[in-house]
Amino acid sequence: MKTVYSASNISLVSILKNILEGHGIRCWLKNEYLSAGMGELPPIECWPQLCVDDKDFAEAKRIVEEALAEKAMPAWKCDSCNEDIEGQFTECWKCGKSRPC
Ligand SMILES: [Zn+2]
Repeated sequence: MKTVYSASNISLVSILKNILEGHGIRCWLKNEYLSAGMGELPPIECWPQLCVDDKDFAEAKRIVEEALAEKAMPAWKCDSCNEDIEGQFTECWKCGKSRPC
């Protein structure tokens, strides 16, 4: 079993899980619930992780990278109000500041 992707943002990890499943790759989430409800960013080892079988890792990694490049953008943090923003948003939903490049 290998971790193909990990992010502090469970939404993005879930999106990628759906994409992998759409390609017929068996995958599952680790740490799915640990970060729920926490006010601050959990330590990286507690981040939700998307895992696949070793034999599927290379293909899964390729699909994830492709998906990140094309569709889902990585989550980002607003540098104005420090809010964690999901990757599909280009502006902070809280204060309206644009995503930093
Ligand atoms: Zn903001």
